[in-house]
Amino acid sequence: MLCPCGSNEKYESCCDPYHNGAAVAPNAEKLMRSRYSAFAMKNMNYIIKTTDPVDLVKFDRTANERWMLESEFLKLEILQSSENENQGTVEFQATFKHMGKVQTHHEVSAFRKINGNWFYRISQ
Ligand SMILES: [Zn+2]
Repeated sequence: MLCPCGSNEKYESCCDPYHNGAAVAPNAEKLMRSRYSAFAMKNMNYIIKTTDPVDLVKFDRTANERWMLESEFLKLEILQSSENENQGTVEFQATFKHMGKVQTHHEVSAFRKINGNWFYRISQ
């Protein structure tokens, strides 16, 4: 199957190695893509694993899990991404269907790298 992250590559050669732990995402954009495909595949453990540990206190697993299970993930568009050594920024637009209603979510996300692993920062 094609990877849900929109890369036009097969899942097996795209986000699967990150999901199954065979490899780590080499940059912020790939991490963002793999998080989106994890949402699409209802893989909450990967979302937790790739959220910055210091931000996890702000993460409501139950609410996120419910939203994830109720949603159908239609499309991810990466609008812009940049990074320097240990900090990254990815601007994206995600299209999903929640409770029968198509919605788009636009976000500029921050990422940071700790010991070779990229993590998503929760901003609010
Ligand atoms: Zn992918």
